[in-house]
Amino acid sequence: MARTPFELKGKTVFVAGHGGMVGAALMRRLAQEDVELLTVKRSEIDLRDQGAVNGWFAGKRPQVVFLAAAKVGGIAANDTLRGEFLYDNLMIAANVIHAAHVNGAEKLMFLGSSCIYPRLAPQPLREDSMLTGPLEPTNEPYAIAKIAGIKLVEAYRSQFGSDFINVMPTNLYGPGDNYHPEYSHVVAALIRRFHEAKVSGVSNVVVWGTGTPRREFLYVDDLADACIHLMKTYSSSELVNIGTGKDITIAEFARVVAATVGYAGEISFDPSRPDGTPPQIARCQPPCQAGLARKHLARRRNQAGLSGVPEGIEIMKTLRQSAARFVRARPPSPISAAS
Ligand code: NDP
Repeated sequence: MARTPFELKGKTVFVAGHGGMVGAALMRRLAQEDVELLTVKRSEIDLRDQGAVNGWFAGKRPQVVFLAAAKVGGIAANDTLRGEFLYDNLMIAANVIHAAHVNGAEKLMFLGSSCIYPRLAPQPLREDSMLTGPLEPTNEPYAIAKIAGIKLVEAYRSQFGSDFINVMPTNLYGPGDNYHPEYSHVVAALIRRFHEAKVSGVSNVVVWGTGTPRREFLYVDDLADACIHLMKTYSSSELVNIGTGKDITIAEFARVVAATVGYAGEISFDPSRPDGTPPQIARCQPPCQAGLARKHLARRRNQAGLSGVPEGIEIMKTLRQSAARFVRARPPSPISAAS
């Protein structure tokens, strides 16, 4: 079952969720590999539909599968669309993982998330803290579904010898992020709010929560690079965290985003709104498996000539690109006085 290095060259590779932020980054990165890419739109195959998924896999028989399709969102979406987050993610994971197994996929990568570790997991987050305590209530349905996917991967590995692996990315941002006013993740939400405040001349932006939780942010193209690296070099039932190993409080990060988009007004915090997972260092570092991906990311930074550049500046550069993309894609509409 542990077959590394795993050769991607010449293989048919299915990216499930190729139109999403992560899927699109995987597509960009896989374009540099000598592979045949397979994709299918949701309008053609709804991945919650077991019969349709089985039929598609039987016809295409992909050799390699990246499972980056999921119902994803920020705190508000997770907390209000609880049924959809549980059902959609259970069905997508079960259908794709099972169809990959039945149709002889050589390797599959399932994307979990750092936000599904127990609410009070010791910091920095270690892969072996999975299922050691209660989950964060606001995203429990999402977490339960994702954990079921992780367990399917582990169980198919152990029962059938399938070369299936799980990775646990940290908070992501970058091209293709979701800027929905209520349902976006923190980076996109902050870019939108500060940009709109700047354009509307609003003098105070209220950010949800206390601002104290520490979070780690990873550029999605770096995640894609780490995923390809792990697909080629990693084969184990143990989870792999993927992150930068650097964290920042939401309050500090909000100031970085405000500066990046050019918002010069006040920033205040609303502690009556949820923080999400409690103040924590959501990062990963040796001796956990993340060392694998982190070493690779560090090597990539060196190759890109970024080794001497402070992390914050690098974040600002990629954030600026994200903010510029947001402005280009959607001319801002003024926001309400509440903000
Ligand atoms: P997106 O919402 O950007 O993309 C999700 C993709 O899944 C879209 O292409 C979407 O299709 C597709 N999809 C959703 N439901 C279905 C369905 N029923 N049938 C077919 N396709 C479907 O999410 P991300 O790219 O951000 O996330 C991808 C993965 O990465 C997820 O597993 C997530 O848990 C993980 N992850 C993401 C993080 C983040 O910060 N974003 C952090 C950690 C992990 P359509 O475009 O048609 O809606």
